[in-house]
Amino acid sequence: MKKHPVLLVLGNTCVGKSSIGLAIQAQTGANYVSLGDKKRELKVTDYARYLKMTQGNSCKPFIPEEVHRLMLESTSNFPASIFSGYPICIEEYKAFVKNFECVGGLHLVVDQDVLEQRFNSRVVCPICHTPGETGDYCTKHKNTLLIPRNDLTAQVLRERQRLYRTRIAPFITFLESTGITIIKTSNKNKVEHQHNVKTAVKLINPHI
Ligand SMILES: [Zn+2]
Repeated sequence: MKKHPVLLVLGNTCVGKSSIGLAIQAQTGANYVSLGDKKRELKVTDYARYLKMTQGNSCKPFIPEEVHRLMLESTSNFPASIFSGYPICIEEYKAFVKNFECVGGLHLVVDQDVLEQRFNSRVVCPICHTPGETGDYCTKHKNTLLIPRNDLTAQVLRERQRLYRTRIAPFITFLESTGITIIKTSNKNKVEHQHNVKTAVKLINPHI
């Protein structure tokens, strides 16, 4: 069976993975799936499944099969997808390649001060728990004001950064060693950043 083509959006927490993912989705018609968003959605709609998926920390001791299954379900009926949040380490990648083919990746980086500032200003919808992207109101609940995310403490930020250093960064090096194109980008230089996003679009476009 043909494997489902996937473009990966990689990077630390708060680097803007979903903004880029959604922008590429809009330009290509590819399916965009964020594992983080999926988990938050499940927390509200199917708590039992959410627990199944979040028990144990991502790769340890085992890769939750449920996560793989969820991503697989999210891609049916689409020719190609953009993934954020899965896979993020070599162990997860071994499961990923059973059903998916990585056609390339976009590695987003931002400066530490920008990261901290963004992290501290994150908001969420109090009804559906979807993180706010732009504006003050939830996109699904039109008149609901987004509120600060109280789950995002300094300790959570440190943990996320540790995850980036110990799992995500080595995973990116690994992907590059296999010959997969990983485009590193920072929106510090807007022109260069736009060019990099266009290059990523070119990686996924032939599969749509
Ligand atoms: Zn909402």
